[in-house]
Amino acid sequence: MGNSIFQMIKTFAKEAALYAKNGAPNVTQKEYRKRLEACNICPHLRKELMRCGVCGCLVEHKAKWQTSQCPDEPQRWAKIIVGAKGKKLNIGRESSNTDTSDATQPTDTEG
Ligand code: SF4
Repeated sequence: MGNSIFQMIKTFAKEAALYAKNGAPNVTQKEYRKRLEACNICPHLRKELMRCGVCGCLVEHKAKWQTSQCPDEPQRWAKIIVGAKGKKLNIGRESSNTDTSDATQPTDTEG
């Protein structure tokens, strides 16, 4: 292997650019945890740096991004196709949208 730190930074920058280009889509908390668990037991993880030893990315960032994927073969976790479920995830993002038509009612008023 022998990935240089420069190569690692380059790869990570590329991943970050792809993520930004797609509108910075994040995975769900559940998916994030699943990915981190996979990284945590992976022999490629450089625990002292929390970087993937294959691509050099910081796994706590990389695992959060829908556009990222595990570079190992076979893959330990895959990327999530943006929009595959017909909805956009907006985790951690506040919009200035004032439309409240989608507000759900917490109380059951039926009956
Ligand atoms: S991204 Fe894949 S190869 Fe890299 S540490 Fe995580 S599980 Fe291992």
